[in-house]
Amino acid sequence: MKKITSIMLGAALLATAPALAQSDLRASIAADYDENLEALFTHFHQNPELSHREFKTAERLAAEIRALGYDVTEGVGGTGIVAVMENGDGPTVMIRADMDGLPVKEDSGLSYASTATQEDIDGIVKPVMHACGHDMHITTLIGTARQMAARKDQWSGTLVLIGQPAEERISGARKMLEDGLYKRFPKPDYALALHVSASIPTGKLEAPLGIRASSSDSVDIIVHGVGAHGASPHKGVDPVLVASQIVVSLQSVVSRTIAPQEAGVITVGAIHGGTKHNIIGDRVEMQLTVRSNNPEVREKLLDSIDRVAEGVAISMGVPKKLMPEVIRSKTETTPPTINDRETAEIVRAVFTDTFGDDVLWEEPREGMGAEDFAYFVTPDTGVKGVYFNVGGTPAEKVDDAPSHHSPFFKIEPEPSIKMGVEAMTSAAIKLFDLPE
Ligand SMILES: [Zn+2]
Ligand SMILES: [Zn+2]
Repeated sequence: MKKITSIMLGAALLATAPALAQSDLRASIAADYDENLEALFTHFHQNPELSHREFKTAERLAAEIRALGYDVTEGVGGTGIVAVMENGDGPTVMIRADMDGLPVKEDSGLSYASTATQEDIDGIVKPVMHACGHDMHITTLIGTARQMAARKDQWSGTLVLIGQPAEERISGARKMLEDGLYKRFPKPDYALALHVSASIPTGKLEAPLGIRASSSDSVDIIVHGVGAHGASPHKGVDPVLVASQIVVSLQSVVSRTIAPQEAGVITVGAIHGGTKHNIIGDRVEMQLTVRSNNPEVREKLLDSIDRVAEGVAISMGVPKKLMPEVIRSKTETTPPTINDRETAEIVRAVFTDTFGDDVLWEEPREGMGAEDFAYFVTPDTGVKGVYFNVGGTPAEKVDDAPSHHSPFFKIEPEPSIKMGVEAMTSAAIKLFDLPE
């Protein structure tokens, strides 16, 4: 009888081994939060830095991760950092955290609100705030780095952690790749990233099977006219009227040229022209953002802008040599971020196994936000990516939560960081079981 009992006990222990490992992971993250992560988050929150200017953030991130035994390289693509831990045969998994804050004056009412200012790349000193939650991302990366280093017996392969600059200018990811991220360091088979979301309740994770973020392109239009006296419009060509007509005509592009089931946005975010009430000027400058969820629609929208600008100018009598200049930004441009379906299914299963069947947040996307994580996982890289969201606002406050990038933005650090580290660590360990 005694023997049977011990065998049964052994079997029961065996069956609950993964659950034990999970509760051990959760306890370890909770202890790390109290000892390190809470203070680190407060530090990063109070010391935000602007895109491409993440000097101290990168230095601290590098020091924290180096102390955990990773081989850390700084200055990749500007202020980017790359940390590598080799741990035997197996796939290479990359985890990315973006580091930059925004030129926003914090008005969140938090006791640890930022009062920081910094000189931006344009030479102007601006207030700085982590108004998108990237302070949560870097804190979570450090927490994940610690758990992965402590669990080397649970995975085999190469782990690459990156601190990425300038996500908010959608240029940091490309800069890191141009600086040899996939050539100087082990190229990943899989890539993971997370974003905290103020519009998702704490305790929830969102991991779409396909589109996670839209493409984004900044476009400038310079409309030329022929200056004249405001009282003699027939002597000139009014660029303000031409530009106004272009704004109106652009509204028909999405409604009349894109298939109704497809999504697209053309927003004219800025328009500047003229000097005085009674002068017809000779120049108007317009700034547009263009969003889509697939490459064909993206090309169609961009081509339509060329066509509308020129067509309107011709119809309004702008001389041929003064046709509008349409300039597509070479730096503010990113493809859509599309999760690899098969890998996303595996990651979602890890999340439900870890946190329960109701953990997944399945609300449809409303806006067309963009993300430059896309560059790391575009089809031509061959890297299978999963980008997921972590809830950051208590459920009862979600409906009134201030949006990202606003002075009032805030998230609940403790539940989102703890869940972020556990979700990321569990997903990464699972990906190391997959083929290279
Ligand atoms: Zn943002
Ligand atoms: Zn962000």
